[in-house]
Amino acid sequence: HADSAMYLAKKEGRNNFQFFDEALENQTERYMLIQHGLHNALKRGELSIHYQPKYALDEKNIVGAEALLRWSSPELGVVSPAEFIPIAEETGFIVDIGCWLINQVCKTMAAWREQGATLAPVAINVSPIQFHRGNLHRTLSQAMNSYLIDPALIQVELTEGVVMNKQHSTIELLHSIKGLGVAISIDDFGTGYSSLSYLRHLPIDEIKIDRSFIMEIVDTQSLNDTRLTAIPLAIIDLARNLNIKLVAEGVETEVQSKFLLENGCHIIQGYWFSKPVDDEAMLDFWLRA
Ligand code: C2E
Ligand code: MG
Ligand code: MG
Ligand code: MG
Repeated sequence: HADSAMYLAKKEGRNNFQFFDEALENQTERYMLIQHGLHNALKRGELSIHYQPKYALDEKNIVGAEALLRWSSPELGVVSPAEFIPIAEETGFIVDIGCWLINQVCKTMAAWREQGATLAPVAINVSPIQFHRGNLHRTLSQAMNSYLIDPALIQVELTEGVVMNKQHSTIELLHSIKGLGVAISIDDFGTGYSSLSYLRHLPIDEIKIDRSFIMEIVDTQSLNDTRLTAIPLAIIDLARNLNIKLVAEGVETEVQSKFLLENGCHIIQGYWFSKPVDDEAMLDFWLRA
């Protein structure tokens, strides 16, 4: 980092030093603002949860939803979880946020149920720190107990990095979560580690093809380019042969949906069916389902 800054500064003259310092300073300041802002966000009720349906193309119905954090800060405006979650991970505050989210999701599910909704599983994203230090088993079981939520209606989304960790404690924890009756899903599949052997040993119920692979299918022309289709097709085969459920994420177009349906991936999540929506709009989806 410093080397390239030096190189740039030499190449472009002295002014660049100042420019680089300022950029770095702004970045550090934003980091600090987010870090401090998050601590108050929970207390001040600035966090909310949106839900994005998982849609079955073959049966034409909603088969689940993913809970996604939203933060609207009075000082910073809307901050993307892609930006604030890594910071909450570094500070460890993700554990508190995650605990709040799990309770909130169960509470919302109970409210949906009360209003006559027929629910399907709701997925909760769990980041590495929350998984290893967050007392996930207890948080989940207490929240499900408080709101009388059937564990079959809760799913946990983990990334490959979390699951690949061969430590005994990781494997034990996965089995204990699974033992609650909660399903385990692998998020952003294909972007993490290359070893696939864990899919055989670990209690994995679902994998989600990462959006980056779906994104590459831009038009019907891409369907003839095997470099673009090979990875989604290989993941579809892999899931079928291992008897693991499959979801494609980030599906934005009809071409992508048709490609997936024709090749055996029936469940999609993405803007093409629906963007993430608030709990009231999600209730409408449940009531229509
Ligand atoms: P993710 O779990 O892979 O979630 C999918 C992300 O893709 C979401 O972004 C969703 O809004 C977005 N998305 C869905 N369909 C489409 C599409 O068709 N096109 C495009 N361009 N994007 C689509 P979001 O909500 O900004 O979340 C980003 C990431 O932040 C999530 O990726 C997840 O890793 C993390 N995250 C969100 N909520 C939580 C949470 O409660 N806890 C933890 N630990 N992480 C969370
Ligand atoms: Mg996810
Ligand atoms: Mg994902
Ligand atoms: Mg993703």
